Amino acid sequence: MIQAKGFAAASATTPLAPYAFERRDPKDHDVVIDIKFCGVCHSDIHMTRDEWNFGSVYPMVPGHEIAGIVRAVGPKVKKYKVGDRVGVGCMVDSCRTCVNCDQELENYCIPGSTLTYSSPERDGSGSTQGGYSDVIVTNEDFVLRIPDELPLDKAAPLLCAGITTYSPLRHWKAGPGKTVGVLGLGGLGHMAVKIAVAMGANVTVISHSDKKREDAKAFGAHQFLNTNSPEALTENALRFDLIINTVSSADLDLNPILGLLKLDGTIVNVGAPDKPLSLNVFSLLLMRRNFAGSVIGSIKETQEMLHFCAEHKITPEIEVIAPAQVNHAYERVLKSDVRYRFVLDMAKL
Ligand code: NAP
Ligand code: ZN
Ligand code: ZN
Repeated sequence: MIQAKGFAAASATTPLAPYAFERRDPKDHDVVIDIKFCGVCHSDIHMTRDEWNFGSVYPMVPGHEIAGIVRAVGPKVKKYKVGDRVGVGCMVDSCRTCVNCDQELENYCIPGSTLTYSSPERDGSGSTQGGYSDVIVTNEDFVLRIPDELPLDKAAPLLCAGITTYSPLRHWKAGPGKTVGVLGLGGLGHMAVKIAVAMGANVTVISHSDKKREDAKAFGAHQFLNTNSPEALTENALRFDLIINTVSSADLDLNPILGLLKLDGTIVNVGAPDKPLSLNVFSLLLMRRNFAGSVIGSIKETQEMLHFCAEHKITPEIEVIAPAQVNHAYERVLKSDVRYRFVLDMAKL
């Protein structure tokens, strides 16, 4: 076994604390990765605190925005070699046989993909553990290549925040001539803005205060809309083809937001609050609007997104911190006080 150390939650109500554990020795197709950086996603907070009632498994080492360097490879690994710059995102395996896996859409694996942490290993050997740690062992099919142009610390958040916004922007065809709103300017939201701008769309940040107005502009957004301004909501009614909802809380009124969509417009929910959303169905049916959802992206699309970001020089705004500061970082994320992603530096573990 490989000795690993990291930060884990012992229960849904305890803070993360240093934790020593073991990783499996590499099997034929496994890659052993020295983790250099791991992003802190709001999903880590939902999961650590079992807010989604997924039956979180403890002790839990969270983290699914992993960037590092290959330390060793199993005997049959073809895609990677020692020293390669690589990443791991939200999934580490899938059934590989269902119709969606057949179409390389492992993120929509019908029996469910194996999540990077707190998920049962498919061979029954226990529960997966994530990237708030110094080493991970992952099947080569779920490892991503990080282009040389992307520094590892800034590449890490692309493995979740980047792909989760890139995928729906591509699927719903953000591009020239399309008006795109990004609801919530946090980790996911700021990536959505940068990516949608690079795709050529006209982009508006839709935020619940004025605090991020200047940042939105700096990220390339063409307009800014404060949801607490009734005038701004009225002025922008029927304007958007697509809104990407990245808000982590169910504590917002969706009806005025839906009113921003034009005929046949679509809101895609990627934010995953712990409570149900509610809406007045007339907000949808009067303009034949679509209410949709999307979860991360496939491995193929994640690799495509990494190349897209390298080509367009797109990287997240990050605050690099020591792993020991992770509990404080969680509190700041919950207060929307993150500009715009915390990244743990494993050299400081
Ligand atoms: P984050 O950095 O905390 O950003 C969330 C943003 O939502 C905040 O910056 C804030 O933006 C807005 N917000 C928060 N509370 C609000 C409230 N009460 N009312 C209105 N707006 C509020 O979180 P994140 O890491 O980007 O993740 C966002 C959500 O996506 C989480 O629920 C996460 O679990 C989920 N997620 C889903 C997927 C997927 O595959 N679908 C993948 C990753 C994450 P403003 O200050 O601009 O209003
Ligand atoms: Zn995430
Ligand atoms: Zn499958």
